[in-house]
Amino acid sequence: MNNLFVYCEIEEGNVLDVSLELLTKGRSLANQLGCQLEAVVAGSGLKNIEKQVLPYGVDKLHVFDSEGLYPYTSLPHTAILVNLFKEEKPQICLMGATVIGRDLGPRVSSALTSGLTADCTSLEIGDHEDKKEGKTYKNLLYQIRPAFGGNIVATIVNPEHRPQMATVREGVMKKAILSADYKGKVIRHEVANYVADSDYVVSVIERHIEKAKHNLKGSPIVIAGGYGVGSRDNFNLLFDLAKVLNAEVGASRAAVDAGFADHDRQIGQTGVTVRPKLYIACGISGQIQHIAGMQESGIIISINNDPEAPINTIADYVVNGSIEEVVPKMIKFYKQNSK
Ligand SMILES: Cc1cc2nc3c(=O)[nH]c(=O)nc-3n(C[C@H](O)[C@H](O)[C@H](O)COP(=O)(O)OP(=O)(O)OC[C@H]3O[C@@H](n4cnc5c(N)ncnc54)[C@H](O)[C@@H]3O)c2cc1C
Repeated sequence: MNNLFVYCEIEEGNVLDVSLELLTKGRSLANQLGCQLEAVVAGSGLKNIEKQVLPYGVDKLHVFDSEGLYPYTSLPHTAILVNLFKEEKPQICLMGATVIGRDLGPRVSSALTSGLTADCTSLEIGDHEDKKEGKTYKNLLYQIRPAFGGNIVATIVNPEHRPQMATVREGVMKKAILSADYKGKVIRHEVANYVADSDYVVSVIERHIEKAKHNLKGSPIVIAGGYGVGSRDNFNLLFDLAKVLNAEVGASRAAVDAGFADHDRQIGQTGVTVRPKLYIACGISGQIQHIAGMQESGIIISINNDPEAPINTIADYVVNGSIEEVVPKMIKFYKQNSK
């Protein structure tokens, strides 16, 4: 009762990384709250799913395994969470800010009148004092995210209604196994007790998934270009550098909007979140919406012709110069030194 729940998404029998990241975060929040971490998995043919989930420190895994639960459709999964939460009364529910999470989260929160904060960039536990009411609420979930066009970082709390619900994008939280043989309980539910036949009204006949064209999220080195790169042609310099360093190329939103790079390479609040070992920011000023997607990088190098560029304040190394001049030199010297 009143535990922390994570809804785990499944793709071809595998739990998505975003869900495993949330289990990791959920474990540390549950420790702070002194409650249990519970996970919910719904799909078809979920053999040995507990092996993927329990090592993240899950105390209780709720399995809903039935034909019609995979691929995801809105009504059955909503019915599962709503009915399970009515029984279990969780204090917190986390899910990925994925296509599914964006559909499922609002449906569940509106059915339970609980509220939901989408795209959180940080989650913490803390108290809240309502000065007007003269009331202090203990151990609330701080749902932290940029707001008002990124001009402020807002901490959102939900003092009265439960569960406190939040979605988080992939890559924002770190994934870490707690113990390979963590002992948790597995409960296999009778799906018909939660989902009405009429909820299966939509059936998926054919499904096409386009594979990602690059491995931006998983690459240990990311070379990101901004508006300062100047043109799509100049972006080729970054691809050349990426080739010699075995890296991936990312971009700021200004570079994407200007047509210098494709949208799926955008890094930041409305793009992907990366945490490579090395991040080379080329002609990027470093606005908060961009920083949100790369600040966890191991080492940050900024190449910028403005010594006062805000990104320089978070960079480990700053190269003051133009992209056109610095990047070809980097390619030349790296090739020379790696012979
Ligand atoms: C709701 C919202 C969401 C957003 N989401 C994102 C997001 O996900 N990702 C994101 O990146 N932005 C996002 N933005 C936009 C963000 O606010 C900035 O506008 C954007 O990050 C700026 O990109 P930039 O640094 O490439 O361009 P600029 O701010 O124009 O900076 C260009 C930099 O290049 C340098 N420069 C210029 N010429 C050269 C040269 N020849 N050589 C070297 N350096 C040079 C300049 O000194 C400057 O520092 C969002 C904004 C809003 C309102």
